[in-house]
Order: sequence, then structure tokens, then C-alpha cells
Amino acid sequence: MHICLLTNLAKVLILDIILNIFYTSLATKKKGPNSMKKIPFVTKKQVEEIVKTYPTPFHIYDEKAIRENARKLKTAFSWNKGFREYFAVKATPNPFILNILKEEGCGVDCSSLTELMMSEACGFKGSDIMFSSNVTPACEYKKAKELGAYINLDDITHISFLKEAAGIPDTVFVRYNPGGIFKMGTDIMDNPGDAKYGMTKEQIIEAVSELKTMGVKRFGIHSFLASNTVTNEYYPTLAGILFDLAVEVKEKTGVCVAFINLSGGVGIPYTPDKEPNNITVIGEGVRKQFEKILVPKGLGDVAIFTELGRFMLGPYGGLVTKAIHQKHIYKEYIGVDACAVNLMRPAMYGAYHHITVLGKEDAPCDCKYDVTGSLCENNDKFAVDRMLPKIDIGDYLFIHDTGAHGFAMGYNYNGKLKSAELLLKEDGTVQMIRRAETPQDYFATFDFCEIFKNN
Ligand SMILES: *Cc1c(COP(=O)(O)O)cnc(C)c1O
Repeated sequence: MHICLLTNLAKVLILDIILNIFYTSLATKKKGPNSMKKIPFVTKKQVEEIVKTYPTPFHIYDEKAIRENARKLKTAFSWNKGFREYFAVKATPNPFILNILKEEGCGVDCSSLTELMMSEACGFKGSDIMFSSNVTPACEYKKAKELGAYINLDDITHISFLKEAAGIPDTVFVRYNPGGIFKMGTDIMDNPGDAKYGMTKEQIIEAVSELKTMGVKRFGIHSFLASNTVTNEYYPTLAGILFDLAVEVKEKTGVCVAFINLSGGVGIPYTPDKEPNNITVIGEGVRKQFEKILVPKGLGDVAIFTELGRFMLGPYGGLVTKAIHQKHIYKEYIGVDACAVNLMRPAMYGAYHHITVLGKEDAPCDCKYDVTGSLCENNDKFAVDRMLPKIDIGDYLFIHDTGAHGFAMGYNYNGKLKSAELLLKEDGTVQMIRRAETPQDYFATFDFCEIFKNN
């Protein structure tokens, strides 16, 4: 039985390696040996067609790749009977995207009232919904409880708060924060001791005991220790920590720990030099910990949940924008028709997003530019000192990896409006899945009749 599993895994891995070599050689052939390996999923020709109906800027998502990736994740964890991915809605809150993931068997992870409402409208209910919030208003717990969602408590004081707001459900999740610095080997991954989320171990044990006396039947344990990890070791390491905690909770309180929620944090390579995570290897790493820690303690029935956002959507979205200005002062600037309200990550964290000038994929990157938006904020730059092919006014730029935490982080500073979202469907056609905002949307929170009356 074990040998059979192993040989199957070996087959999958070998197939993966062969496919990787095949794709890499394809990519090199297509783009020449020195070029980057990030290839947009739309061509200049496709974009020229799309803009006839939907002007730039817009985010576009690749349905086929989203589905393929979701299936890979499911396969990687298929050894676990209860496995389920709860897509972190905050990453890409679009009903069409949620529906695609629903068809692939995913649930949703919500953390606000409107995310719960969107999920409800898409037909998610009960155990399809994880509610992992913090600093939660009472009305949100009420809504989550009404929908029958799994509720994940961020703090021990939320027990009485939830009881008051909505009542205590049969199943409750608790969020763990181990404190200190989270290291893997010698690498510092993140600083949970400085994060506002979760409870200490003592509080977890106390919270579980208290919830048990209140009649809770099944428990889940959740933790989120590092964001955008580009290593196959993160989930297995986190799983080891949570599995040990599950054993301790069970031994100290005698409750049924039914779920371990590994949360989000599996990342994507934003820069072209990084290797993407291999979800097959990650799933296998978690399985090893499961068999080592949980199975011997009689916890072999525990279901593994994930709440991935970035990994599910990040690489499968791009922001398409047009070069509309060019400026030569102390530096060379390319001004585009998108700005930080469409993609905030570079302005907010100095995050790198790869840029391809469509139609110039094979041209040498011999010009150094700052690629900027139009906000009256000097950090509104999609790229600083970036080597790119010579850009002409009217060129389309494909900003990579905007599928998660891209459109979603949008805002309206400077009265700028949020762009449309488009879906490149499996049959190659393009569907608008959210229209661009108009000035009417921007002004919708005023009552103009009142304002005119007084002036
Ligand atoms: C943001 C978030 C996620 C998703 O994180 P990714 O880095 O996008 O995978 C999952 N769970 C919770 C509770 C979150 O806050």
C-alpha cells in the first residue's frame, strides 16, 4: 500500500519534472536565452482586440490556469479525506471568480460582512464558509452564525462576545499565535510576536476548555505565520507546529480536534528569478507530518483546510495599461493610464511586479524607466529604475501577478476610479466580470439634491 503510494507519487513527480523541462525549453526557444521567463497569458494582438470593447486599464484573469491550479492543489492533498481549500475572498472578491472556484470544489474564507454577503449570493453556505476575522463587529458574527459558517475565534475574549452577539455554534475554530520570531532553519520568515492575530498557547487551551463546557462538540485549530512564502517547507513546518498543538489540546482538554486550518501564506514568485512553489511537494510534506504526529495519536481523521488567496489567483491575473505619457527630466518616466488605485502593492510595500511590454517580448531591455501612475503621490510607481524595451506612447504594458491583492486593494484617492475586471475564458473569449467605476459610483454616497438645495 505504501509502496504503491510512493510509486504513484514518483510517477507524478517524474511527469512534473519532464513537463517542467519541456516548458522551460519552450520558453527559452521562444524568448532567447537571456530573457526572463515570465510570459503574459494575453498577446498584443488579443489586447488590441479587447480594447475595442473594454478600454485600458483593466485587470484580466485566466480561467483555464485558475482551474488547473485549483485541481493541482486538490490532488496534492487528496491523501487527506476531509481536505478543503477555502479561498480567501479578500484576495479577489469577484463573484465570477468565486463561482469558478466553487465549481472546482473550493469553499470561501471571509472576514467581513460584505465578503459573507457576496459568498451567500454565490451559493456558499454552512460548512462552505470559513469566517476568519479579527476585531469583529457583532453584526458580522451574527451573519456568519446565520449562514452556519465555521467561526474562527481570533481571541479568548471573543468567546463571550460571540455568545452575546450570536450564540456559540457546535463547531468552533481557534486561532493560534506562537509569538516570537518564526524561523525555518536559519531563515527568519516573519515576526508573529509582533502580529495582532491569534491567541497564546495557554489561551488556546483555556479557550477550548471553556468552549467545551459551553457545549462545543468539534474544534479546529488555525494559524497564519508567514505571508508569501516561496519555499516548499512553509506548510509542512506550520503543519508540524499545529499538529503538535492539536495533540496537546486533545490530551489536556479531552475535546475532539476535527480540523487543522493551515490558512494562507503559500506564495508566488513575483520576480522572474524565483522558482514557483511545487504544491505536490508541499502536500507530500504535510502528509509526512500528519503520519508522523497525528496518526500515532489517534488523530488520523483530522481534516486539513487551507485558506489560500495569493497562490490560487496571483499569477493568473494581470493589469493591462497603456503608455500615455513620456517624460525626460532627471530620470526617464513612462506615464500609464493605471495608477496605484488599480494596484497598490508597489506603492504600499515597494512590491515588485514584473512588466512585459506587449509586442516587444523579444526586444532587448536596454532602457531604464520609472513606470508611473497619475496620483499626486510620488510613490505611485509600478516600477523604479526598471530595465525595459524602449517604450512608445500607445504601447500596452502587462503588469504581471495582479490576480490576488490587486484590484482588491483598490481605493479612490484623487477621485480615481477602479478599473474593470475581465475574464479570459477557457474558449478564448473575453467576458467582463466587473464594469469599471464611473463618476456616478464615486458620487453615489452623496445626496446631490440636498447639496444643490443649500447652494
Ligand atoms: C489574507 C488571509 C489569507 C490569504 O492569504 P494569502 O497570503 O493570500 O494566501 C488567509 N487567511 C486569512 C485569515 C487571511 O487574513
